[in-house]
Amino acid sequence: MPSELRYWTVLDPAYRVVVEADDFLLYHRLGRDGAESTSQAYASSLALFFDWAASIHKPWRESAPYLGRFVYWLQHHRPDRVRAGRTDVVRGARRVNGILAAVRSFFRHAAAVGQLDPKVLAVVYDSFESYSVHVTEQAGHPLRARVRHRLSEPASPVLNAAGEDIGGLIRAANSARDRFIVIAMWRMGLRRGELVGLRRSDVHFVPDASQLGCGFRSTHLHVVRRTNPNGAWAKSRRQRVVPADWLTVQAYDQYIAERDRVDPGGRSDFVLVNLFAAPVGTPMRPGGINELLARLSSRAQLKRPVHPHMLRHSFATNVAEHGGTADVLKELLGHAWISSSEVYLHPSPERLRAVVEQVPSPREPGEKQ
Ligand SMILES: [Zn+2]
Repeated sequence: MPSELRYWTVLDPAYRVVVEADDFLLYHRLGRDGAESTSQAYASSLALFFDWAASIHKPWRESAPYLGRFVYWLQHHRPDRVRAGRTDVVRGARRVNGILAAVRSFFRHAAAVGQLDPKVLAVVYDSFESYSVHVTEQAGHPLRARVRHRLSEPASPVLNAAGEDIGGLIRAANSARDRFIVIAMWRMGLRRGELVGLRRSDVHFVPDASQLGCGFRSTHLHVVRRTNPNGAWAKSRRQRVVPADWLTVQAYDQYIAERDRVDPGGRSDFVLVNLFAAPVGTPMRPGGINELLARLSSRAQLKRPVHPHMLRHSFATNVAEHGGTADVLKELLGHAWISSSEVYLHPSPERLRAVVEQVPSPREPGEKQ
C-alpha cells in the first residue's frame, strides 16, 4: 500500500484477486489494526477454504453446511501429495482450528457488509442469536466459543530453555550485543519482534526517568507497537512497561559501548543494529535473532537448540515460580487474555513431586513402631 503498511490477499487459480477475501483482509489490517503476520495467516487459511469449496463444486457462500467435510479435508489434504493415504494427518488440530477461526472471521465480515446472508452464520455457530459472536469467540473469555466446527487440541507443555542452556548461550556469545539479546529475552520476556523494534528512546535504564517525561520509577523499558521498516512488530496493542534488572542494564551498557566503538557516529534510533555484517548500523531483522540463537546453540553444543520464544517462556516460568500471579504475568508479557498467562501457573513436575513428598507415608509392613 502507499504507506509502509503491507497486507496479504488471495488470488484465484487465474491470478485474479478474490474480491470478498481482499475486502476482509483489508478490513482486518486497517479497520482492526491487525498484525501483518495475522494477515498472512488469514490469507493462506482463506486460500485453502476456496480451494476446498472449488473441490466440492460449491460457491463459497453455499459451502457452510459442508464445513464438517472441510475439517476432514484440512486434516488429510496436501496439494503436493494428492494421493496421500487416508490415515495420514497433514495438519494438526491446532492448525485446523486456526484455519476455521479465520474462515468464521471472514464469514462474519461478509455478513456484516452484505456479501453473505447472515442466516449462514447459524450453520457456523450454535445459538447464534443469543450470543454476541465478537465477544464470545475470544479465547479465555468467560463465555466460551460456541462454534460448531472445532477439533480438540492436545495440551502441549510450554517449552522452556533450561537455566544451564541459557548460561551456555551467554558464554557462547562473542559480542556484547549478542549477550544483551539473550539476556534481554531471558530477563524481560520480550518477543522477538518487540526486541528488534526497540528504539533507544524506549529504554529508560536510569534510576529516575522523570526528566525523560516518564513517571515510572527505576530501570525499565517501554514496549510500543509501531510499523517498522525492518518488519519488527510488537504484538500487543497496548503499550507496556517492563522492569529491567541489573543484569540487563549492565549488558545493555556494555552493548552500547561496543556499538559506539564499532559504529561511531551511528545515527540509527533502533537499539539493535547490524555491527558485524554489512550494512553496519542498520536495524537488525527479526530473522536475525533466530539465526543468532541457532548459531549460539550450536556453538554451545546444546542438545536442543533454543528458539526466541523459549527464552520468553523461561522468563514467564521464572516469574510464576517466584510468586508472579496471572495478572502480573499478563502485564509483564503483554498478553491480551489472562488465559495465555495462566499457562505458566501450571506447577512443574518438580513442584508436584516436592508436594507429594511432603505428604506423610504409612509405615512399611514389618517396620518397627
Ligand atoms: Zn519510562
